[in-house]
Amino acid sequence: MTPLDLDRRNDELAAWDRDCLLHPTTHTAQHARGDTPGRIVTGGEGVFVTDRDGNRFLDAFAALYCVNAGYGRTEIADAIAEQAHKLAYFHAFAGHGNEPAIRLAKMVMDRAPDHMARVYFGLSGSDANETNVKLAWHYNILRGKPEKRKIISRWRAYHGSGLVSGSMTGLKVYHDRFNLPLDGFLHTHTPHYLRRPEREMDEAAYLDFLIAELEALIAREGPETIAAFVGEPVLGTGGIIPPPEGYWARVQALLAEHDILLIADEVVTGFGRTGQMFGSDLYGLRPDFMTIAKGLTSAYAPLSGSILSQRVFDVLMTGADDFGPLAHGWTYSAHPIGAAAGIATLDLVDRLGLVENAGETGAYLLERLRERAEGHRNVAEVRGVGLLAAVELMKDPSAGTWFEPMTVGPKVVAEMARLGVMTRAMPEGNIVGFAPPLCITRDEVDQVVDAFGQAIESVLGA
Ligand SMILES: *Cc1c(COP(=O)(O)O)cnc(C)c1O
Repeated sequence: MTPLDLDRRNDELAAWDRDCLLHPTTHTAQHARGDTPGRIVTGGEGVFVTDRDGNRFLDAFAALYCVNAGYGRTEIADAIAEQAHKLAYFHAFAGHGNEPAIRLAKMVMDRAPDHMARVYFGLSGSDANETNVKLAWHYNILRGKPEKRKIISRWRAYHGSGLVSGSMTGLKVYHDRFNLPLDGFLHTHTPHYLRRPEREMDEAAYLDFLIAELEALIAREGPETIAAFVGEPVLGTGGIIPPPEGYWARVQALLAEHDILLIADEVVTGFGRTGQMFGSDLYGLRPDFMTIAKGLTSAYAPLSGSILSQRVFDVLMTGADDFGPLAHGWTYSAHPIGAAAGIATLDLVDRLGLVENAGETGAYLLERLRERAEGHRNVAEVRGVGLLAAVELMKDPSAGTWFEPMTVGPKVVAEMARLGVMTRAMPEGNIVGFAPPLCITRDEVDQVVDAFGQAIESVLGA
């Protein structure tokens, strides 16, 4: 692969970008000085994006693992345009509605596990998690248990960057210097065998350890104070970490024992990424809430959802008859343009067989990455499920010594970009993450793996 020349144009647009726009999750000062590695992306087709300097990249992270149907899908663009011409907006308060939101709700509920009862539409994964926490509190208040309100999450979780969702997130960079987490948001261990506390622990002992720690946390706080446990079926931003075998069954049994609700944050895993429709299907979860966003519209328009279970909905019904309307709603809840994008996206997911492709081509990606990476002296682990994969780098995996976080991982990712392949350096580690659009082919996977192999050798040697 011939490296790209990634020098960027420095003109009026670049100056306005430095001078006017505050970017999310960006080094503010570096960006203002023009030193961030960002790019101005202008187009896309399938798994490829182009920038305005004429560079073409294979996007092996589907932007932020959200453009699941791939770029340039005219079916979704046309659905958005048609809806904007017909009715761009009407609110959904006091029982008002719009056709696409109702149709999409039906499509989501047809795909969700059988015990789920309703979907509430928001705009982002963060606000959907916020809705889930509020509804969990509301549920307990209606049941006469207002003190049952703490939320347990995991270190390395990602649930968004709002005040409540950022409190549930378990990454230090999202807490430090914002005085988060808020009171009542607790974190338990990251379920990741590579990070076991003692190197001699076998996998069964490690699982016992995780469950004992969670049980101790519940006992310490008092189960009567804990509303919900929130978790991504597969930890995403925290490093793309599939759960240890048997983890979810043990966690669920413990939660059931203490009347603690389960919020499955399916923002990444929802709509096919793991090779099943939902991560909950793959791991046998029976959540009370499911958070959906990213894959719901393939990010063609902002839309999220909170799916609630029948048992939660039944309490909400009784509560409404006793106390009146649910006092929760964003102006843009159930937005018709987002809903139109969602309908077109889910139609494409079915028509193109993207869930099956995620399973099959995902298995191929993992196999190819293993062939290429395992055996390299700095590769500690190649892991994944469906079209989610990660390679974790350590200084010396056999001695258990780590690199300084965010040193070599970002270098490998930068080198891959120079080779025309976008991936992501996952935070608080040296982890190269892969989550391409679900329409990726084997041939495109080969290009990703070749670039990875070349990049790791140029950064760390053969
Ligand atoms: C991205 C993400 C969120 C937050 O979604 P936003 O739309 O960025 O607010 C929540 N949970 C998970 C698992 C995510 O990956």
